[in-house]
Amino acid sequence: MCPEKRRVIVWPDPILEQSAKPVDHGERALVASTLAELHSWMISTGSSALAANQLGIPLRIIALRCPQAGTGNPPKFIDLINPEITKKSGQDRTEETCLSLPGAQLGITRFERIQVTALTSTFDQMTFVASGRFARAIQHSVDHLDGIMMIDRCSRLLAKTVLRNIHMFTD
Ligand SMILES: [Zn+2]
Repeated sequence: MCPEKRRVIVWPDPILEQSAKPVDHGERALVASTLAELHSWMISTGSSALAANQLGIPLRIIALRCPQAGTGNPPKFIDLINPEITKKSGQDRTEETCLSLPGAQLGITRFERIQVTALTSTFDQMTFVASGRFARAIQHSVDHLDGIMMIDRCSRLLAKTVLRNIHMFTD
């Protein structure tokens, strides 16, 4: 079954500034169809993480590529429903990109290590610890669910410069 064709929502669409709604228990069909769309977009764009509201679906669902995925194998996904970051420690600054801000590459400070609580796609509760790039991808995606873009996490001056450059290329 081919999922309904959507597009990746690009800044400054107001959808990206709104908080996504928690998924209710029992909305399994909706979760399954949303995850199918997220996975399909991640495969076609090579993205390592995607939040449902980046496809215009205002639900607290994110999909990430499994950090242990080997090359040449089909990508494995970790799906998080209603994710919450329950502990955080350390700091790390690395450049990030975002499908919703094409062309932008920004140095963003994030927590190095986080504990995450979420539901799986079958509504089982899970808690795990993530670090490094994987922790960064989760924080970036949970920010999307809260209506926060990576330009909100850097200095106003840097954000302005980056956004001016994006407009130069897209206008
Ligand atoms: Zn993003």
